[in-house]
Amino acid sequence: LDWCLIQPKIELHAHLNGSVRDSTLLELARVLGEKGVIDFTAVESVISKDDRSLVECFRLFDLIHVLTTDHATVTRITKEVIEDFASENIVYVELRTTPKKNAVIGMTKRSYMEAVISGLKSIDSVDVDFIPSGKGRQNSSTALACDGMSNGTVRKKIYVRLLLSIDRRETTAAAMETVQLALEMRDLGVVGIDLSGNPVIGEWATFLPALKFAKEQGLAITLHCGEVPDRKEEISAMLDFLPQRIGHACFIKDEERIKLKSSKIPVEICLTSNIRTERFPSLEYHHFIDLYKSKHPMVLCTDDTGVFSTTLSREYSLAASAFGLGRKEMFELTRSAIEFVFADDGVKISLREIFDATTKNFM
Ligand code: 5GP
Repeated sequence: LDWCLIQPKIELHAHLNGSVRDSTLLELARVLGEKGVIDFTAVESVISKDDRSLVECFRLFDLIHVLTTDHATVTRITKEVIEDFASENIVYVELRTTPKKNAVIGMTKRSYMEAVISGLKSIDSVDVDFIPSGKGRQNSSTALACDGMSNGTVRKKIYVRLLLSIDRRETTAAAMETVQLALEMRDLGVVGIDLSGNPVIGEWATFLPALKFAKEQGLAITLHCGEVPDRKEEISAMLDFLPQRIGHACFIKDEERIKLKSSKIPVEICLTSNIRTERFPSLEYHHFIDLYKSKHPMVLCTDDTGVFSTTLSREYSLAASAFGLGRKEMFELTRSAIEFVFADDGVKISLREIFDATTKNFM
């Protein structure tokens, strides 16, 4: 479906290390294999595997982190991931990543994030807007520059904002450190906090103080919620916290569904990720259609383009065929996500202009 590629899109749930190109991972693995740090052949078969259970995914993330966690590589993968998103006409992306420490190579959470920022600055194939203007309205020429239908004479532009992830393996103090860092890096495009990591590890109470603090300080919050059947009433507690968005919400019981719908908390939907990790036997059972029919705010996202071998265009195409939606419906679905991006109103105005400028091609 060509129009899925051409239409401007908004990506609100993308993990940096889950979105690394396979070719880059293999190249990095080969180098570490030659140095004797890893067994390349074993790693190659893990990277090239297509279907993975949830447990295998988290093992893969640990492996990816071995390959990517040095400053130069973090800069490289950030650049590549944003270039890949821009190439499929994503006009706004919130990229999330877990700030990491590694004393052996002098990496702190701050220096990790500085490497991410260097990656954004190093992109020259498209214009990257990641520094909040602070002036409200953005330059109106952005509408043209971002038009996915441009004739090639106008440079593409992509808005990038960052979310810092708290990993469920972390302590309260570590989570608080991430929130502090996010506050210090607001001028560099950090707009919010994500809670992610293996959903069967960690307790909601451990992260709550840091999340509460982040919220009080005006950072936006998105939580991975309901990825596995509920543990210790966590889903209900998460909904009561009233985050600005949640991711997945696959395993929610009837009373939580009522709560979710009345709260109107937007849901980030990642179809391929949910199917690959066996949250649903097939798309026919996916809660997308229930949320869509009840006009619940939601947005289609990729989660991990690398790990799940997908793209946002592919997710649109999948949804269109699985749920019988046409290009008009899909265009409206993406456009509706402007209302729940975490960037300021100036960016929202620019995004509305971009979508308005291309409406005629999709309606
Ligand atoms: P990073 O934060 O290192 O840039 O991206 C990879 C990390 O994102 C993983 O280690 C994991 O913590 C988180 N992540 C990626 N995909 C998922 C997912 O589907 N569910 C959850 N809960 N966490 C994820």
